[in-house]
Amino acid sequence: MTPRQRTARRRELLTWYRANRRDLPWRRTRDPYAIWISEAMLQQTRVETVIPYWHRFLEHFPDVASLAAADTDDVIGLWAGLGYYSRARNLHRAAQAVVERHDGMLPGDAELLRELPGVGRYTAGAVASIAFDRPEPIVDGNVARVLTRLLGIDGEVSSKPVQTRLWEEAEAIARGEDPGALNQGLMELGAMVCTPRAPRCLACPWTRSCVARKEGRQEQLPVKARKKAPKRVEAVAGFLERRGEVLAVQRPKKGLLGGMWELPGGELTAGEAAEEALVRWFREGLGLAIPGAESLGSVEHVFTHRRLRLHVFRCKPAAGRVRRAGWDAHRWVRRSGLAAMAFGGPARKALALASEHGNRS
Ligand code: SF4
Repeated sequence: MTPRQRTARRRELLTWYRANRRDLPWRRTRDPYAIWISEAMLQQTRVETVIPYWHRFLEHFPDVASLAAADTDDVIGLWAGLGYYSRARNLHRAAQAVVERHDGMLPGDAELLRELPGVGRYTAGAVASIAFDRPEPIVDGNVARVLTRLLGIDGEVSSKPVQTRLWEEAEAIARGEDPGALNQGLMELGAMVCTPRAPRCLACPWTRSCVARKEGRQEQLPVKARKKAPKRVEAVAGFLERRGEVLAVQRPKKGLLGGMWELPGGELTAGEAAEEALVRWFREGLGLAIPGAESLGSVEHVFTHRRLRLHVFRCKPAAGRVRRAGWDAHRWVRRSGLAAMAFGGPARKALALASEHGNRS
């Protein structure tokens, strides 16, 4: 794009954005902390899902200091259901770093923001531009789609040359009047008009200049590498109740669903039957001998690279004390207390199945 063309594209984008932007709660504030939380939550997660979480999170932790001083379990608990829990742990650690390094005030400089745990180039650019009016670029999936189509960029979208080009273009666009609105306009255009399938080119402010539209290649761009099919994993979970309390275990801090609570169990080995695996996990992971279990059915949960099928059982009361080997902690919890704990997605589904079953029987 020539500088002149870029100026025209900026003007068109701003006019469109100001007339069409959705009224989202984090767009009604200039508080950098609130904007930062929204950006962390919006990664990989839909706007409608994020809205209630964002309100609840800010009610509990209204500023950097309160988040920094919070208990990790409480932070994870408020995140439960949003997925990608490393985001919550990073936010917590980043808030502590902001208190230590910046007196509790989120810096406006993108470089300083990027030194915080979990803050990458995208989040730093979003916070710096939206909350501090800095001309910093952002490129996420929406922006990449819009720009590859507008400019007719071929080449696999996650490849280094294409990413470099996209960040350069985004940087050049952000260097205009109201960088925050320009960046949000790009994202909004990707979310509302330049959608992955059937983009609404007639409603697009760039319809006359867009290369993909001129060439009829809207749906061929951006070029994506073939995705590998997610790996199928079979696992078991046991609902064990003793004197009105359910046994919950906490996953190790590192790894998938790190630090989250779940029902005891784990993956099946090759050729192993689900009930056999359940008995093994209770014996090896908890030192408990399960005399038998009733199948409650199964639930499915899809992670980025894994499709999990979780077989859920109600265990017959097991004798003995818990000797923990496979988990960081365990807790006997009254049914009424389960909702407040930070269970991961699969465990929530397993608990819902167990409770459904409990209500029927
Ligand atoms: S004209 Fe169509 S393909 Fe091009 S940027 Fe606009 S919505 Fe996307």
